[in-house]
Amino acid sequence: MSAHPKTPDVEKASIEDRLYANKYTDHEESHLDVKVEGVCEDRCDTYDCVSVCPANVWRNEDETDVVPMIAYENCLECGSCRFACKYDNVVWEWPANGTGMTYKYG
Ligand code: SF4
Ligand code: SF4
Repeated sequence: MSAHPKTPDVEKASIEDRLYANKYTDHEESHLDVKVEGVCEDRCDTYDCVSVCPANVWRNEDETDVVPMIAYENCLECGSCRFACKYDNVVWEWPANGTGMTYKYG
């Protein structure tokens, strides 16, 4: 029997496979937010935070969601949402020390 842990087939990994290879330690407090909800409600019509996020963290699935929902537990800490918002309306911090995303396979 092999002593090596099972690793995913990287060459053929789908996006879902790759996301599954991440592990999130929840600090139970979001490291992401919007600065001013009214900016999302009254000024933004592009929702770039939603479209740019590779992990579906920012969501406005319902037309009544004028301020996006934030599923911070899935965050990959790539920083894209922070720079995509043309109103500089994203609060972005690193997750508290020892929490956030790590790779299951190193
Ligand atoms: S892109 Fe910025 S202003 Fe627009 S919904 Fe997202 S956080 Fe709000
Ligand atoms: S940092 Fe990246 S993964 Fe996290 S919410 Fe922003 S765009 Fe999504």
